[in-house]
Amino acid sequence: MRNPNLRLDDLVVRGRRGREETRLMNVKVPSNVLTRIDKVAASLGATKTEVVIAILNEGLVTAEDELRGWRPPPKPVIPKERRCSVKNCDREKVAKGLCATHYQAQRRAHQMA
Ligand SMILES: [Zn+2]
Repeated sequence: MRNPNLRLDDLVVRGRRGREETRLMNVKVPSNVLTRIDKVAASLGATKTEVVIAILNEGLVTAEDELRGWRPPPKPVIPKERRCSVKNCDREKVAKGLCATHYQAQRRAHQMA
C-alpha cells in the first residue's frame, strides 16, 4: 500500500504512489464482504489492500462530515439521594446503597473472608 490517502477515484484513474504504511489490526472480514472486495479489486485492476484503503478513506470522510459539530450528550446527573454511598462515587446505587461496581466489590470481599 503506497498511498495512504487512496480513494476509489484514484484507483479508477490510477493516479497513485507515495509512501507510508503501518499495520493496523488483524481484522476478521465476513466472507461475503471479502468476495465483494475481490470483485471491486478485479474490476479496477487494483489490489485488495488498495480497495480496502480507498473504502476506509471514503468511509472516514463520510464519518468526519457527519460528526462535524456533534458533541456526545451530557452524562446524566444522578440526584444525591440515588447515588452510591461510597465517597466520591457518583454512580447510581443499585443494591444496599451501593452502585453495581462497589456492590460487587463488597460481595467479592465478603466471599474471600
Ligand atoms: Zn460506587
